[in-house]
Amino acid sequence: MKKIDCLRGCAFSAIKVHSPIAIIGGGTAGLNVAAQLIADGHAIPQQIRIFEPSKIHAYQPGWTMIGGGLCDVKQTLKPMDQVFPKNISVSDSAVTKIIPQENQIETLDGGIYTYDQLVIATGISTDFDSIKGARKYLEDSNAPVASIYNYKYAEKMNRLVQEFEGGNIVYTEPPLPIKCAGAPQKIIYLSHDRLNKRGIKTHHHFYKTAGVIFGVPKYAEILTEFCKTKQINCHFKQKLVEVQDHVAIFENQDTKELKSVSFDLLHLVPPQTPGQFIAKSGLGDQAGFTQVNPNTLQHVTYKNIWSLGDCSSLPTSKTAAAVMAQTPVLVKNLIRSWKLKQDPLPGYLGYTSCPIFTSQSKLLLAEFKYNSELDETFPIFQSNESRLMFHLKKDFFPFAYWQIMVRGWWGGRDGLRFFKGA
Ligand SMILES: Cc1cc2nc3c(=O)[nH]c(=O)nc-3n(C[C@H](O)[C@H](O)[C@H](O)COP(=O)(O)OP(=O)(O)OC[C@H]3O[C@@H](n4cnc5c(N)ncnc54)[C@H](O)[C@@H]3O)c2cc1C
Repeated sequence: MKKIDCLRGCAFSAIKVHSPIAIIGGGTAGLNVAAQLIADGHAIPQQIRIFEPSKIHAYQPGWTMIGGGLCDVKQTLKPMDQVFPKNISVSDSAVTKIIPQENQIETLDGGIYTYDQLVIATGISTDFDSIKGARKYLEDSNAPVASIYNYKYAEKMNRLVQEFEGGNIVYTEPPLPIKCAGAPQKIIYLSHDRLNKRGIKTHHHFYKTAGVIFGVPKYAEILTEFCKTKQINCHFKQKLVEVQDHVAIFENQDTKELKSVSFDLLHLVPPQTPGQFIAKSGLGDQAGFTQVNPNTLQHVTYKNIWSLGDCSSLPTSKTAAAVMAQTPVLVKNLIRSWKLKQDPLPGYLGYTSCPIFTSQSKLLLAEFKYNSELDETFPIFQSNESRLMFHLKKDFFPFAYWQIMVRGWWGGRDGLRFFKGA
């Protein structure tokens, strides 16, 4: 512990804990940054402090698979202390404020910390309560309302589909950005396939707030055709605003008119927002995301602040795959700037991927970068649904996450970093 005089005119000196590198958020991005800093020999664990109030680390891409009957909830969760690098310092209280001019962090329990370099990786929060009535029906085990954006409600989705006896299923998508913008439709295709196999007569309706099915033209074309073939009815510019007993209320985004739609099963996706402390600390863009350079990941004003993942302003789809591509760029630039006193290099071009389950045995792998430009790794497999891509996503990616990423050895689509001597 380092004792520093209180800089804000208080009568007593305050105890502040100093860490060379502070990382706020121990989710996919925060954990990956810490693991790579250590694996690459840039820092010893004792130099890094992670701020993380959650006791559970979640592999959130697995939640679609829970809802789709492809995996168990246990495969998507691990105790936080089992995934963090050994001997790292952890503060288990949420960060409430950063004072960037003083390199200072404040936490909910009144703690005050200082840093040399700061990484903000707090993700985005799901806001189920902003949809009137949603929480009540999600929590009621007898109500046919579920969501893959929470592991308990994803388990409920799996059960509801298993027990479904026919009728209307309504699926929704809120305003973007959200985590993995493809997930709201992955659950449609998975449920469609399961019910089809059981011969259950079902009408599938997809209500999206946006005006297009997918942001990248090539995949939008494939998915539009797919919905036509499967008789999935798409309704655009419709935002879910309220849930009632077997009725969903949508607001038309052009006319603001309200429309009631009855359902026998509702799959809803909540609106999502970045932590308020980012804007409160003067570090956010207009929407409250940490405002960083899109290619270097350095904060636009404070040169010792970095951000990646869902809470960053990076204008790409918010996925774990994007985090895997962002992490090595952030780590290299942080070290260049901190230890070598050199300017960061523009290394990130917006790569992200969205593996879209199209059935319980096939998948369409969408890969793209900034400006919705294609950036495909296996082009011959990426114009159609593929069984090989399905197994990559269902079996290999979770293994890579829990066994390779946590050690700082996973380079995403670049493969194993360990053997590259990164
Ligand atoms: C249903 C679903 C399906 C998905 N499917 C895919 C997929 O197929 N492929 C893919 O690549 N990605 C997918 N994703 C997206 C992927 O999970 C996220 O993009 C990824 O987890 C982002 O990592 P992150 O570290 O930015 O955020 P998170 O992993 O959410 O971590 C943020 C962490 O910050 C902590 N935190 C929050 N506020 C504070 C605070 N004030 N102080 C301290 N700590 C704080 C949280 O507790 C959390 O642990 C999916 C997500 C969901 C929900």
